[in-house]
Amino acid sequence: MTYACGDSVGCLRENIPGPVPVICVLVGDLMRVLILILAAVMLLFLPSGCNSSGESSYNRYTESIFDTFDTLVQVVIYAESEEEFREYFSALHDRLKELHRLYDIYNSYEGINNVKTINDNAGIRPVEVEQEIIDLINFSRQWSDKTGGNVNIALGPVLEIWHFYRQEALFDPENAQLPPMEDLLEANLYTDLDRVLVDEENMTVFMPEREMSLDVGAVAKGYALQLAVDELIQNGLESAIISAGGNIRTVGSPKDGERDLWGIGIRDPDASVMAGTEDILDVIYLESGSVDTSGDYQRYYIVDGEMAHHIIDPNTLMPANYYRAVTVVANGSGPADFMSTALFLLPYEESLALVESLEDFEALWVMPDGEVRTTVGMEQKLRSHGATNTRQ
Ligand code: ADP
Ligand code: MG
Repeated sequence: MTYACGDSVGCLRENIPGPVPVICVLVGDLMRVLILILAAVMLLFLPSGCNSSGESSYNRYTESIFDTFDTLVQVVIYAESEEEFREYFSALHDRLKELHRLYDIYNSYEGINNVKTINDNAGIRPVEVEQEIIDLINFSRQWSDKTGGNVNIALGPVLEIWHFYRQEALFDPENAQLPPMEDLLEANLYTDLDRVLVDEENMTVFMPEREMSLDVGAVAKGYALQLAVDELIQNGLESAIISAGGNIRTVGSPKDGERDLWGIGIRDPDASVMAGTEDILDVIYLESGSVDTSGDYQRYYIVDGEMAHHIIDPNTLMPANYYRAVTVVANGSGPADFMSTALFLLPYEESLALVESLEDFEALWVMPDGEVRTTVGMEQKLRSHGATNTRQ
């Protein structure tokens, strides 16, 4: 889907006493089917349905969604009955499916104008779209302005070339190549976000040149998660943790009568494909909020022994190489997803200055040599600095 781009590694750690259930997901190009099967098998070993939980009147229910955003969505909800859980779960599933179709850049759907429809009609005609698409474009433009413009959803022509070469490499790894710079430079002539024309009155989007295209892979999954979960909260959801690939959203605190805070594992970028407990770099403890990671290991191919990953610096048109990974904590998962990519694309001093200039963000950077740097606020949330699942 949209996220052909967004294939990602997320690691959701429910940090409860006893045998620790660790749900790690890796969804990469070739690995996707295998891993989804593996994940399904892993789920068999997790407490299914509900667990009785301490003295709380709430029970813990878990379920997974396999058919949205090309990633495994894992849902843990504390609810007072299975029926209540089912209502939240099916509302979430339906909404994510709907948003997935709207934000998809690779597939068309009968009766729906989605981001692919906008791309297909670049240089031809304005396309009438749903409010959710206009909102996503406005959100992306606003955050692009706030963060210096490196994350640009109009970078589609450049990202398509990288996508093509990555796909080729999957089928013929021996002959994997980097895209020719002249092709990238030519494509980059058609990546001006200001030329993505949104007509709010007529609810249309138009890109005036045939070569233009949108790629919403850096933002849409987090944005969709935020919309869907906010709607559940409006309908009464009080306690949940939801992981969509690298994007994790928590609601309230875990109503298990024991913990105040959720524990979320940050994956070690050097971890093996089949991540387990040992592959967790650290654990973030938080109440309501969002955590998102952008990493070089989430989608890549190898050329002459070097990793060519999926987050492209618009200044060099090459993969950014400042970090192995950047993890962001924020209030909303839309901003968290956007910011993890934006911070990944800036050298450390600028990346740090950007987080510090904005409210409500904390960040953790894994440098190329494995060194971990954090904002002060992030440090206070980390297990390695003494944080636990109870409020201090
Ligand atoms: P993931 O989706 O794997 O969690 P990100 O949120 O960092 O990781 O998004 C990476 C995706 O964003 C890429 O696969 C690509 O589709 C898109 N992308 C890459 N570079 C840029 C960029 N400079 N601006 C906008 N989108 C980008
Ligand atoms: Mg992102």
